[in-house]
Amino acid sequence: EAINLAMDQASNPQRMTHEQFHVRIPLGTAVVDQFLGLKPHPTICQATYIWIDGTGEHLRCKTRTLDASPTSIEQYPIWNYDGSSTGQAVGRDSDTYLKAVAHYPDPFLGGQNRLVMCETFDKDMKPTATNHRAKCAQIMKGIAHQVPWFGMEQEYLLLDRDGYPLGWPKNGFPAKQGPYYCGVGANKVVGREIVETHYRACLHAGLKIFGTNAEVTPGQWEFQIGCCEGIAMGDELWMARFLLHRVAEQFGVIVTFDPKPAITMGEWNGAGCHTNVSTAAIRAPGGMKHIEAAKHQDHMRMYDPNGGRDNLKRLTGRHETSSVDKFSWGVANRGCSVRIPRSVAEEGKGYFEDRRPSSNCDPYAVTGMIAQTCFLGL
Ligand code: ADP
Ligand code: MN
Ligand code: MN
Ligand code: MN
Ligand code: MN
Repeated sequence: EAINLAMDQASNPQRMTHEQFHVRIPLGTAVVDQFLGLKPHPTICQATYIWIDGTGEHLRCKTRTLDASPTSIEQYPIWNYDGSSTGQAVGRDSDTYLKAVAHYPDPFLGGQNRLVMCETFDKDMKPTATNHRAKCAQIMKGIAHQVPWFGMEQEYLLLDRDGYPLGWPKNGFPAKQGPYYCGVGANKVVGREIVETHYRACLHAGLKIFGTNAEVTPGQWEFQIGCCEGIAMGDELWMARFLLHRVAEQFGVIVTFDPKPAITMGEWNGAGCHTNVSTAAIRAPGGMKHIEAAKHQDHMRMYDPNGGRDNLKRLTGRHETSSVDKFSWGVANRGCSVRIPRSVAEEGKGYFEDRRPSSNCDPYAVTGMIAQTCFLGL
């Protein structure tokens, strides 16, 4: 019977989507606990190198053994991988390089093990097409004296093993949105186990997680990272995304950062990555005039990984968004491109919120763009 089924599946030309593939209930967790619970090795470090692949929105990782846990980022050896398998090189000349740029305690393995955020370089040691960090780091260096702070609000949707939003009925839609945002109760929210676990994982890794909340669409959540100075914003958000994917993987659940998954095209909020921004001058008394002076336009092509196309589905002017082709700003207005929080307007200083970046944006591209146009005036 089982063999027949396997043969049948092997000859069945129908394919699963990438969002369904290989997701299952995790097996043997007690066995995993048994081995991860063994007394840790006294000196060895398992270092997991993490990088952004050729899509500009998905992450890859691989792990190696180091004799000791590095105390500074320069101590991590340059490593390589097969870029032809990640959309970052052609097969004949596929070595692509990983350079460690930030490291964090590993909440999965514990002890002296490390998660290592990396930049990617091609065979000539030039940044790959989706390595937006290289340029961002340069820009941030140039405005370091302005002490730029960022805080990003990462929205996402949890998906069941079949690729369907977690908790949604399989043969219809949930009751319309309203009670789910910051909701409490089994009929309001789904997946809190994942959210709580991810929060602790971020804290263990030393990330500046600011908070978390259930969002407007059922199965949708948000976490915020910040305030982070300069390039650390991108490093920490990417690492927090990695932790979320990994935690959800252990629950057999999928995370999507798609700003508007097809099934949510009707009367459902999409997902964004609101980006809160300030500099020393904006935070100081009278900072409001610096917020007003900032140039906010022309950013859209950097606000999602597909040159602005992903955001077309989301920034419709409805569902708490602004229209994609019209720049606007306002105090406490969630239908604007840029919102000035009420408390900031009252105190005349603080920060502003750019509501346009897509949930699948590259935070290096977004913060780099804001820093360049708003604070370098380019
Ligand atoms: P919202 O009311 O838009 O939902 P959240 O509470 O979700 O806001 O998130 C607020 C974000 O603003 C956090 O990421 C926080 O780090 C960030 N933030 C707060 N103050 C500043 C500041 N002075 N500069 C930059 N970011 C800030
Ligand atoms: Mn190999
Ligand atoms: Mn928020
Ligand atoms: Mn939100
Ligand atoms: Mn917001």
